[in-house]
Amino acid sequence: MSGLLSVFFHLLLLFKLVAPVTFRHHRYDDLVRTLYKVHNECPYITRVYSIGRSVKGRHLYVLEFSDYPGIHEPLEPEVKYVGNMHGNEVLGRELLLQLAEFLCEEFRNGNQRIVRLVEGTRVHIMPSMNPDGYEVAAAQGADISGYLVGRNNANGVDLNRNFPDLNTYVYYNEKHGGPNHHLPLPDNWKSQVEPETEAVIHWIRSFNFVLSANLHGGAVVANYPYDKSLEHRVRGVRRTANTPTPDDKLFQKLAKVYSYAHGWMHQGWNCGDYFPDGITNGASWYSLSKGMQDFNYLHTNCFEITLELSCDKFPRQEELQREWLGNREALIQFLEQVHQGIKGMVLDENYNNLAEAVISVSGINHDVTSGDHGDYFRLLLPGTYTVTATAPGFDPETVTVTVGPGEPKLVNFHLKRSIPQATPTRRVPNPGHGRRVLPKKVQPRVS
Ligand SMILES: [Zn+2]
Repeated sequence: MSGLLSVFFHLLLLFKLVAPVTFRHHRYDDLVRTLYKVHNECPYITRVYSIGRSVKGRHLYVLEFSDYPGIHEPLEPEVKYVGNMHGNEVLGRELLLQLAEFLCEEFRNGNQRIVRLVEGTRVHIMPSMNPDGYEVAAAQGADISGYLVGRNNANGVDLNRNFPDLNTYVYYNEKHGGPNHHLPLPDNWKSQVEPETEAVIHWIRSFNFVLSANLHGGAVVANYPYDKSLEHRVRGVRRTANTPTPDDKLFQKLAKVYSYAHGWMHQGWNCGDYFPDGITNGASWYSLSKGMQDFNYLHTNCFEITLELSCDKFPRQEELQREWLGNREALIQFLEQVHQGIKGMVLDENYNNLAEAVISVSGINHDVTSGDHGDYFRLLLPGTYTVTATAPGFDPETVTVTVGPGEPKLVNFHLKRSIPQATPTRRVPNPGHGRRVLPKKVQPRVS
């Protein structure tokens, strides 16, 4: 009898956990309602905002979770999920709605892990980057949806081939010298991208995102940069070759965290493909130019991976619950990965914040910068590193720091001005200020 009672109570508990969540596909209006429903249920820790509109005028909505929604708190990292950039790859969209409901519900239930996450992290969730494509795919339905119907935006453009190509520049710079981070946008970039892409570029430039994943379907694997192989095309032949970033080991770890926390991704055999550990370098799988993940890494401080989450791009409604249970832990663990490595403030002698100071780690040819508030975040694996902070007009400061496997280590920098306020003397070059004096013939005009 007591056994039966215990089963009954377990069922009750299970029902309580599952009951508020509805496993169904959400069309655009339903998606918007769901985001506002979560916001109404958790008004003090959420905010709904739009980053712009699609070709057909649908909003690209984001639901933010934070203990101070709408505010960047220094030393609290920003992390994002982007779903459904291919309109017909719909699982990510549904998983992110489930995740939003889950975070709200568990925060209200006092789940310590979720409370800690929300209080220490600013999480931005965009369930759909391509709401127009989604409507086309959804109109076809799960069973009859063609493999590519609804993939592109309303102008027929694949949004994951639509970001400015910065790989070409960084591959050149790696050989010949030049910036290894924050590569500039081409002058005419706006005329070359779709409205959805433009909105996302403005978005990722306006927040200091540290970590991100974009969610796709059609395979089951965690894919990390670079997506574009070093020699993308040689005489018209598409090359694929493992093309690691300077942060390769870290990216592999981030991908593995997802695949091993996922119900079956790490097993490797999925959808007729085999990926050891359930992860792959993007370019070694197939080379892809102008993708979003490479752009994040090369233009901002954000480390993004691409999650392929289902063999079926448009799974049937009955499969959504199983998929959620297979992905839930992985989605949470990945967010928690933003808390590793080092972080801190970059300040001047008067404790003013220094934005856009450059943080370099010796041996890793990819720098990050401090944000508007002077705080920086550098994801790193455990180890001992030599870290240097530099800012124009200040002496660089170098420290050696040992990073453990747990919480990020706090490393603050106090930079001293390198140029004393002296009256400049005309025509006298001044080599003593840390600036390299160029040979006469390439001396730049300063007027
Ligand atoms: Zn995709």
